[in-house]
Amino acid sequence: TFSLKMLPLLLLLFLPLSGALPVHWESPEEEPTQVVQTYLERFYQLPRSGYRSVRRNSTSVIVEKLKEMQRFFGLNETGKPDEETLEMMRKPRCGVPDNGDFMLTPGNPKWERTNLTYRITRYTTQLTQAEVETAIKKAFQVWMNASPLTFTKISEGEPDINIAFFQGDHGDNSPFDGPDGILAHAFQPGQAIGGDVHFDADETWTTNSNNYNLFLVAAHEFGHSLGLSHSTDPGALMYPNYAFRDPSTYTLPQDDINGIQAIYGPSSNPVQPTGPSTPTACDPRLSFDAIATLRGEILFFKDKYFWRRHPQLPEVDLNFISLFWPALPNGIQAAYEDPDKDLVFLFKGSQYWALSGYDIEPGYPKDISDYGFPSSVRAIDAAVYYRGETYFFVNNQFWRYDNKRQSMQTGYPKNIASIFPGIESRVDAVFQQNHFFLFFSGPRYYAFDLSAHRITRIERSNKWLNCRYS
Ligand SMILES: [Zn+2]
Ligand SMILES: [Zn+2]
Repeated sequence: TFSLKMLPLLLLLFLPLSGALPVHWESPEEEPTQVVQTYLERFYQLPRSGYRSVRRNSTSVIVEKLKEMQRFFGLNETGKPDEETLEMMRKPRCGVPDNGDFMLTPGNPKWERTNLTYRITRYTTQLTQAEVETAIKKAFQVWMNASPLTFTKISEGEPDINIAFFQGDHGDNSPFDGPDGILAHAFQPGQAIGGDVHFDADETWTTNSNNYNLFLVAAHEFGHSLGLSHSTDPGALMYPNYAFRDPSTYTLPQDDINGIQAIYGPSSNPVQPTGPSTPTACDPRLSFDAIATLRGEILFFKDKYFWRRHPQLPEVDLNFISLFWPALPNGIQAAYEDPDKDLVFLFKGSQYWALSGYDIEPGYPKDISDYGFPSSVRAIDAAVYYRGETYFFVNNQFWRYDNKRQSMQTGYPKNIASIFPGIESRVDAVFQQNHFFLFFSGPRYYAFDLSAHRITRIERSNKWLNCRYS
């Protein structure tokens, strides 16, 4: 498939890569300037400076490129290689550069036919051929369901999309970098190498939640094969960084459906597919599923995401639940921190989990009947810990659990509004701060002063995500 005549296309897609430089993404002693230089060269078209003259790019060019990268990832546009920027640069990702804010590849390359073929020419030794074929087929189905495209596997002859696992330098001017860092890359639609997908054979490829799930990476790369470029939506499949999601329940996000349909038109299915949209912090309708403090941070859970608010930092970052805790389900319903045990408890349905920092404690999930709930309680809306007691909110009632005696207190459940006057609607989430219970219900929160025993403030829920409204 490789030939010299493909060089112009390669140069279009893969701007000067630092193939001559050994890059160790994981090594902590690596100089931040080198990390920044290499990253910006690879993914943000920073002119390559060469090994001996790292400082040849003028500072202002680097500052502009850093800001461009920070804008893409929604970081503070400081133009400086601050900690959050370096952290983002060390994440495993796709090898294709990020094209500013455009979802479509520049020049809008596309296949002129809808019936495409693919062929797997080099396998990995870490999975069986059948496992690879299943993951690849499933990854094509993701795009097939959302578009008029079809994909047929062939085992000889020239396919539209050639799929192969390669190690290091593999003859396309875009060498792989060993474990982590760049996981794979793909070429935009076109003849010969156009549309082809290469996986880094030095990665550990899996069919489960361990790094790196082949289906997820393949589905992302096929997006490039079909003409999409990177999305700034952190929930999109076309986001450049790797994020685990459960393959068995995977649905193509709306951002990617919009992208593929902008190129090829709607699906031929009578019912058009719809996918999950990433929650936006400043959506005035935003509500939360659950909130917990964690060693001074506040975690706001929503669907498959959580926002993390640091006490000292101005920004709030959005993360996948599955990225931090692959074993946890999406849609956490209630959460509280027990500062005495230094554990955070998370609830969904009748199950609950205990977290020690960012690790799940062994022996979980357990059943909420452990707390002494009657069998009629099958889910909890919200929970909060205060002075040795845990408050559990279920519909219009709440229960109080004595953590020392490990039993539910007598006289419960009580009516929420009888003890917390003004909390009239169902509680989505609650946490405690400075002797206030912060009750969240839909797009509003109520600050309940536990000493004065009344609500002192009602505001928009997402004020906690630093959204301000005039
Ligand atoms: Zn990519
Ligand atoms: Zn390649």
